[in-house]
Amino acid sequence: MDIAELGQKILNRDRRALARAITLVESQRSDHRKQAGELISELAKHRRQALRIGLSGTPGVGKSTFIESFGLMLTAQGLRVAVLAVDPSSARSGGSILGDKTRMERLSRDPNAFIRPSPSQTHLGGVARRTREAVALCEAADFDVVLIETVGVGQSETVVAEISDLFLLLLAPAGGDELQGVKRGIMEIADVILVNKADGDLKAAATRTCADYSGALRLLRKRPQDPQGFPKALMVSALEDQGLAVAWDEMQKLNDWRREQGCWDQRRADQAQYWFHEELRQAVLSQLNSPEAQSEIQHLALQVADGSLSSATAADLALTRLNIKTG
Ligand code: GDP
Repeated sequence: MDIAELGQKILNRDRRALARAITLVESQRSDHRKQAGELISELAKHRRQALRIGLSGTPGVGKSTFIESFGLMLTAQGLRVAVLAVDPSSARSGGSILGDKTRMERLSRDPNAFIRPSPSQTHLGGVARRTREAVALCEAADFDVVLIETVGVGQSETVVAEISDLFLLLLAPAGGDELQGVKRGIMEIADVILVNKADGDLKAAATRTCADYSGALRLLRKRPQDPQGFPKALMVSALEDQGLAVAWDEMQKLNDWRREQGCWDQRRADQAQYWFHEELRQAVLSQLNSPEAQSEIQHLALQVADGSLSSATAADLALTRLNIKTG
C-alpha cells in the first residue's frame, strides 16, 4: 500500500481512502501498525483539527436518534460530521450494541457525514487507542466535528473522555425524583448533560430530571478551566428535534472559552501524554505475553517458588532477559 498516496487522498477528503485507512489503523498486524504509524505522523503535519465530541448513554436512551438529528442539523449548517464508536460489548462478545446497520440511516446517506462502527478488538484499551487514531484520520480528512459514541457501561466513558474535547452524557427522564444511579465519576467528566425525550408525556419528568441534575452538578467541585454555569444540564428531544440548537450553542460557547483560555490546547497535550503512557504500557504488556517471554517468566517463577531467587531479583532478571531493561 502506498502510504503517501493514501495520505494525499485523505487530505482530499476521499471517503473510501479514509475507510481504508481506518481499517489499516485497526489492524493488529505489525507491518500494518508500522504503516499506520507513518500515515498518522505524515497527516499530523497538516495540523487539521476537528471538534471532538464524546457521547455516552445507556442503551435505549436515544444515542442514535440524537446523533442522527444532531448530525443532520450540523450538516445542514454546512459542517462535515464523522461518527465513530467505542463499543466495549463488541470487544467482549463479538456482538455489538452500536453496530446495527439500520441505525442513523438518514445521516449515513448524507454526503457530509461519515459513520464508522466500533473496531472489534479484544479489550477496551485497544479499541480506544485505535479509535483515537481513527479520529486523527477524520480530522485529516477535513471533518469539522467528530462524534465518538460509547455505551455507558464500564470504563468506556473514561477512555472516550480522553479522546474528546467535549463530553456529553445523554440521560432519559427518570420515573421518580431519584438520580438514576449515575455514577459520580461519569458526572464529573460530563461537560453537558442532555436529558433526552423531553417531549409528550415525558416532558414533565424530563423537566424534573433536568432540575435534579442541574442541582447535582452545582454540588460537584467547580472545574477551574470552565466558565460560569458549566458543566450544565439541558433538555432535548432528539425525536422531535428540540433543544438541539441550544445544546450546540452551549457546546460551542464552552469550547470557544476553553480555546481562548488555553485549556483546550492543554487538554489535548495532556491527552497525548495519557495515550503515550497507555501505548507504552500496552507495548510492554504485549512483550510480557509473548510465548518466549511466558516461558522465561515461568522458568524464573519456579526459582522464586523454591526460594532460590527473590521476587524482585527475578523481576529484574526477566526484564533484562526480555530486553525491556538493559544493564
Ligand atoms: P440508543 O440505544 O441509545 O442508541 O437509543 P435509540 O436512539 O435507538 O432510541 C431508543 C428508543 O428511544 C427508540 O424507540 C427511539 O425512538 C426512542 N427515542 C429516542 N429519542 C427520543 C426522544 O427524543 N423522544 C422520545 N419520545 N423517544 C425517543
